[in-house]
Amino acid sequence: MSPVPIPMVLHCPRCGTQHIDAPDPESGWTNPPHRSHLCGNVECQDDQGRRTIWRPSELFTTGVARLAQVGSSDTWQPSAEPPAPNVVLPERSPLRQENQRLREALTKINDIRNDIVGRQTINWSAHIYPLVTALHEAGFEGLGYDEARRRALTLLDAVKRLDNVALALRRMLDTEKRDLAALDEELGRLGLLR
Ligand SMILES: [Zn+2]
Ligand SMILES: [Zn+2]
Repeated sequence: MSPVPIPMVLHCPRCGTQHIDAPDPESGWTNPPHRSHLCGNVECQDDQGRRTIWRPSELFTTGVARLAQVGSSDTWQPSAEPPAPNVVLPERSPLRQENQRLREALTKINDIRNDIVGRQTINWSAHIYPLVTALHEAGFEGLGYDEARRRALTLLDAVKRLDNVALALRRMLDTEKRDLAALDEELGRLGLLR
């Protein structure tokens, strides 16, 4: 006697896709009673590339679109809300493409960094141009020469002002030191200092 599976509303624990059991003539799946379910989302894999298979119960279960009855105080119904967290983005999703684009750019920038560290020098053809290209490909246009120069000068200006502050502080410190030395000398003369 074959077991009668319990109808359940099942969602994949990895990607949140609802799992509805039915025969699939195209793949030859006849939908026999089963306890472990294969997520229908082909993108849903572990880090070794294995499709997600999980067991929601030790008993035989069958994923259904919805149950015959809904609880009177239930606040959630199947298909009424998008799937749970950890959604694996579909291949053509803009977010996924954006993610990939940024990852590629960062990988290139990281390679450039490593090359600079390896050579202990930086140059235009091996580093600076490729850096600009990588940023450009990732959608970062960068500033034009005039604007970049204006900002650089503003920065230089700030550095200069800081230099002046440091100089003034050093002078004050020197004066303090001289005053202290004079005081030492005076105290020494009076026999108050060994
Ligand atoms: Zn899944
Ligand atoms: Zn199943």
